[in-house]
Amino acid sequence: MDHFVYRDGQLYAEDVPVAEIAAAVGTPFYVYSSATLVRHYRLFDEALSWGPHLVCYAMKAASNQAILRTLAAEGAGMDVVSGGEYARARAAGVPGERIVFSGVGKTRAEVRAALEGGIRQFNVESEPEMRVISEVASAMGVVAPITIRVNPDVDARTHAKIATGKSENKFGIPIARAREVYAEAAALPGLKVVGIDVHIGSQLTQLEPFEQAYLKVADLTEVLRADGHEITRLDLGGGLGIPYTRSNEAPPLPSDYGALIQRTLGHLGCEVEIEPGRLIIGNAGLLVSEVIYLKHGEGRDFLILDAAMNDLIRPAMYDAHHEIVPVKEAEAAAELHPHDIVGPVCETGDTFAKGRLMPPLDSGDLVAFRSAGAYGAVMASEYNSRPLVPEVLVKGDQFAVIRARPSFDDMINRDTIPEWL
Ligand SMILES: *Cc1c(COP(=O)(O)O)cnc(C)c1O
Repeated sequence: MDHFVYRDGQLYAEDVPVAEIAAAVGTPFYVYSSATLVRHYRLFDEALSWGPHLVCYAMKAASNQAILRTLAAEGAGMDVVSGGEYARARAAGVPGERIVFSGVGKTRAEVRAALEGGIRQFNVESEPEMRVISEVASAMGVVAPITIRVNPDVDARTHAKIATGKSENKFGIPIARAREVYAEAAALPGLKVVGIDVHIGSQLTQLEPFEQAYLKVADLTEVLRADGHEITRLDLGGGLGIPYTRSNEAPPLPSDYGALIQRTLGHLGCEVEIEPGRLIIGNAGLLVSEVIYLKHGEGRDFLILDAAMNDLIRPAMYDAHHEIVPVKEAEAAAELHPHDIVGPVCETGDTFAKGRLMPPLDSGDLVAFRSAGAYGAVMASEYNSRPLVPEVLVKGDQFAVIRARPSFDDMINRDTIPEWL
């Protein structure tokens, strides 16, 4: 459920007409609904209310300070994957004890910064990384809390680019070698083992892969405890999928997911951490764009938008489907015609949809991409020297620009000319 609905023939973001934001901000832009993202966070929080837990928002999905502050005010923790994300989380007021640090290649500088600023745990992804964390922590005279990310070798049944839990993926250590690696961790100075971490992929639309992975984590917890390790936390990653189309069957609900966690792991008495990103922000965001031209090609019609692959790369990168709807609601009797919906970037890959059935639209009309909140603005670039797309946050009848569109001068002045040129 989201808060983007038609009222009197106009698409609204909560209580604000999307067209009103477009008039104020210009297109293209991202708009997020506070109510939707707060609602999604609370669904996860409630789904785990049967035990001690922390929902750590995977901020790589959308990391604007205003979004982080909205979630932090709800009590959310953060899952960060870089020094930049750590700095963003801290700048948004998230205390270190609510930040977990994931990612396959943490540098010494990132580890040091997190230990200086405070960190709940590092999710260690390899033995060399574990040794670096040990060295840095020891040199600083502190102890780094760690979990070790295990790769359970399960098929997440999702797009290949976002599956992370098969043995051929670069993530974590093979679960079969976990005992050995935990033994080394226990022997290294400057580390305190606090738990186990697992994350098998993104946009999972079934619970079975989670179940397979979590049953393996349950077994491993018992084995590691028998080896003498104190396993008090289980970080179960993110990955629950969202509906991108109206028609396909609905992915599992956070409540079902929470019940699955309770059933597979609840008996172990651990504190549970989860790292949802997409489900919290995905359906809480739209990308709004204007039709520049309607072009009749050889046997096909093109809708040419002012948004492009640099603003929303998911269709080009993951073959992703986004619903694209008119901001002015189509007449009930409107005839739908197939269109290729494209951006102006000089690449054939700059295609959002092929043969998409659309109501009549013309130059100047606005359209909205649904489910664009996650992995949208954060993956945007200035390819073709198109300024970074701005972001807007709505709350009730208020809206505010939370990242402004740079001017051409802003863009150009980021470059510097060497003195000798
Ligand atoms: C990307 C990622 C997540 C979030 O995945 P979603 O599909 O957005 O929920 C969580 N944890 C880790 C380690 C990740 O890399």
